[in-house]
Amino acid sequence: MFNNSFALGVSISSLLICVVNLVYTLILRRTDKLQNRLFIALLCILIVNSLTGIVSAVCGQEVASEQTLSYLNASRYAYFATHTALCPLFFYYVSNVSLASTRLTNRRVFLLSLPFFVTEMLALTNPITSFVWTFDETMAFHREWGETVIYITALFYFILAFSVIIRSWNFISKKRRTALIFLCVMVVIGVLIQLLHKALKVEVLAEAVGFTGVMMSVENEDDRIDFGMGFYNRTALSMDIGGCITNERSLKLVMIRILNYDLVNRLVGAGEANTVADILSGFLKSVVPRYFIYVPEKDTLVLTLYDYSDAEAEVVAERIFDRFDGTWDYGEYSIQLNASILIADVPSQIRSTAELSYMIESPVPDTKENRIFKEKDLEFIMRRQSIEGAISRGFSENSYEVYYQPTYHIDRKLHGAEALIRMHDKTLGNLYPDEFIPIAEQNGLIDDIDEFVLEEVCRFLKTGVPQKYGIDNINVNLSVLQCMRPGFVDRINRIVAQYGIDKHLINFEITESIAASDYDTLSHVIQRLRNEGFLFSMDDYGTGYSNVSNIFSLNFDVIKIDKSLLWDAEKSELGMVILESTIRMIQKMNKKILVEGVETEAQIHLLEGLKIDYLQGFYFSKPIPKNSFIELISEQKR
Ligand code: C2E
Ligand code: CA
Ligand code: CA
Repeated sequence: MFNNSFALGVSISSLLICVVNLVYTLILRRTDKLQNRLFIALLCILIVNSLTGIVSAVCGQEVASEQTLSYLNASRYAYFATHTALCPLFFYYVSNVSLASTRLTNRRVFLLSLPFFVTEMLALTNPITSFVWTFDETMAFHREWGETVIYITALFYFILAFSVIIRSWNFISKKRRTALIFLCVMVVIGVLIQLLHKALKVEVLAEAVGFTGVMMSVENEDDRIDFGMGFYNRTALSMDIGGCITNERSLKLVMIRILNYDLVNRLVGAGEANTVADILSGFLKSVVPRYFIYVPEKDTLVLTLYDYSDAEAEVVAERIFDRFDGTWDYGEYSIQLNASILIADVPSQIRSTAELSYMIESPVPDTKENRIFKEKDLEFIMRRQSIEGAISRGFSENSYEVYYQPTYHIDRKLHGAEALIRMHDKTLGNLYPDEFIPIAEQNGLIDDIDEFVLEEVCRFLKTGVPQKYGIDNINVNLSVLQCMRPGFVDRINRIVAQYGIDKHLINFEITESIAASDYDTLSHVIQRLRNEGFLFSMDDYGTGYSNVSNIFSLNFDVIKIDKSLLWDAEKSELGMVILESTIRMIQKMNKKILVEGVETEAQIHLLEGLKIDYLQGFYFSKPIPKNSFIELISEQKR
């Protein structure tokens, strides 16, 4: 039923498929990594196998002659010489994709490759030994024991490859492992069909089809690369490091955090684009190959250094560190970048992908001296983990407390207060919001914290005590991210309604620096809450780089000028000009102004001259517990 024409058709089909795959791989220049090269080698093997299939099919139609016999012999030789390498290479390929290869020491690689060498030798020496196959003069093909050895060895590597896929299951993306499993299934089906019916020579075709899936899903790394410069993204980093941890592979990470990212991004006007990675691209590629560079965050790059000793990794880190002394050319700009460099060891310091996230997300500790962070400096990563624990157990353990800091009219009469959260944790002691709020914002617990503060404030206002002593309203901080979530306005209304207090007693603060990319939503939320009667303040004005007209379109009652503007005004003439003109601009927009961070009499004099409305700062009082606060305002009333 299946004659030589059938076999010819199948072989030509698989040849075409493999050639297309090869051409695409080359056009898209997926050729630089070992993984890519192994893939290309696999395609080349399949191409040779398809060609030998064509030769066998064509010769099979001819009458037996010396010449056809020599063609057949040559083609069989080429077939076995290459096909024997297919499964071992597939195993190396899968090990590479899953990073399992990285745990292979030279000795292990040698031992694992031994069966491959032996079978390859069997195939290559067949013309002399005839261990694998022979042809008789009628052109009939005879299998010898060597072929069985080759197939058993192939099965061995196939099972090894399969077990690597299973072991690394969680660290190969779904798309990639689907393609790899699909390939395995195709190989099994192809081999089975051919075993059941010798004339159905579809094994190579099945493999060619399977590798097409691999090309589309594994070799195509679009899901691992976000940006034009070809560096890997955050998902790729955590998959790869996760793979290394599972496979007990150690490596060094060098993290570069750009500290003045916002400023640089604003300067070059790149908006959402990945400016910093772009600026550093050329230099970093001179340090390590492209595929060892990751950009998990816009201001953070990570280099993976495999097989580097501590000392060697430090040399790399120092080279990078020194480079930041100089400026960087970017288009028409010459830019000074400030960076922190950190070296971490996987797995002794980074033991899980969670810790990797902490490293990427946490601010690098502030130190005055410029140096490379390593060893003990990395304790902040552990600290972050323990704080996350403290935040989540905080509610059940009653660790949270709301403090109040009074605010004053410019004539020093009491005006209001700001509610500020504090945490007293059993094991970590007292924690300040500057440390735990950013973490809570990342893990989502900020919603609960902000609601807790709002309820506390409502409860306090419900007693009527603050009003009695002349408090006009109490300020409650909100995380901008939370405001934009659906149902936010209803939730706030529901909480406040529960206590039946006047809504204008509450003044919400939103920080300028994060006052959001989505102005329409934010503006809508603020408008709805203002219509309900709540007041709104813009916090930390002067620290962000927001568009001024956007900010003022948000319709705030009070603008709170950040303490740094006040403090800078005392330090330099330029600082003074900035403070004065900022205040004048806000006054022209008919908004009330509060200046925070007032610590001295001299500062108050300065602000009186500038005719602002409200003051807040340690000069009057630090944030204090509710009872102390009541004491303070009751005394001041007298
Ligand atoms: P913020 O809203 O700008 O709060 C003012 C911060 O400045 C407070 O720090 C306060 O203690 C401090 N401060 C006030 N006057 C002076 C002064 O004269 N000198 C100095 N050196 N500092 C002064 P705190 O309480 O540590 O809060 C830090 C930040 O944490 C707050 O900055 C706010 O962004 C955030 N935060 C605090 N409580 C909450 C909350 O309940 N929810 C949210 N979402 N964020 C909060
Ligand atoms: Ca505030
Ligand atoms: Ca502030």
